[in-house]
Amino acid sequence: MSTPTGSTPPDPRRNLLLGALPEDEYRRLQPALEPVEVDVRQQLYERGKPIEHLWFPVDAVLSLLATVEGEAAVEVATVGYEGMGGLPAFLGTAESPHDTFGQIAGTAVRLPTGELRRFLSGDGALHDVLHRYTLATMIQLSQNVACNRLHTTEERCARWLLQTRDRVGADEFSLTQEFLAQMLGVRRGTVSLTAGVLQQAGVIRYTRGRITVLDADALHEAACDCYGIVQSEYRRVAAAPEV
Ligand SMILES: [Zn+2]
Repeated sequence: MSTPTGSTPPDPRRNLLLGALPEDEYRRLQPALEPVEVDVRQQLYERGKPIEHLWFPVDAVLSLLATVEGEAAVEVATVGYEGMGGLPAFLGTAESPHDTFGQIAGTAVRLPTGELRRFLSGDGALHDVLHRYTLATMIQLSQNVACNRLHTTEERCARWLLQTRDRVGADEFSLTQEFLAQMLGVRRGTVSLTAGVLQQAGVIRYTRGRITVLDADALHEAACDCYGIVQSEYRRVAAAPEV
């Protein structure tokens, strides 16, 4: 973990789940929230080990990996400012089903799992927000299955880059070839070719693991519809339900 110097940490309520809480409820939760800088490859959860904290990324991105005996790890989901790491703890499981690492360095706030139970026992909004988030996560996961089967590597690469840009809140970010390969479920050589196509078209620049989005509109055009579908699901989580 590292502590940034000379910069103001981003507002924790950039996280859509925390941002969706009414002001008074957020103020009650706030003393239990600890701001932490997440580093790339920092392990936050280990498969089969207790979930000690819930992590709410502010501008960091987390990567959830599934491992198959004797095979390379495969990324099953990423979590950014729209969500939370440690969802299984909300659903009543004490142990993490996945290994989880920092994918993009940045700020997150964490809440001890025991504190979550205390806050959920009231009749506040947190419970409803996390229910809606659970549904949005299921939709994201099922959309990813369809995306992996039906959409080209170029379309999926553009989708992930757009999503990462949203999460980081900047046109430029570091994303290693290794992580991009895990996100797309392809070999690193394929990542180079795919990013090369987008680079040749003037849509992105990709050098030494640093990505710059040069033309966001063109990146939108290159991405599959899954980007918009998943984005609107997460917007729904943040919005108060219609009465
Ligand atoms: Zn897709």
